[in-house]
Amino acid sequence: MADSGRVPPLLRLCRGCRQFVRLDEADCPFCGGDLDLLQADYEQRVTDMRQALTELREALARARAAEGEA
Ligand SMILES: [Zn+2]
Repeated sequence: MADSGRVPPLLRLCRGCRQFVRLDEADCPFCGGDLDLLQADYEQRVTDMRQALTELREALARARAAEGEA
């Protein structure tokens, strides 16, 4: 009766070592990292990267605008 082939999401990805670990683990059994901490750190880095990308685009746009004026 259960729809076969569907694996319930019992795993999460460790952001420290990229291994899948069980959802109920607090610390990664592979690298010993704090999974919540690593996830928060990862999300912070993604946010920082997006911010840096936005700033880069703005800087490029300004440089192009300045070129047009010259
Ligand atoms: Zn790990």
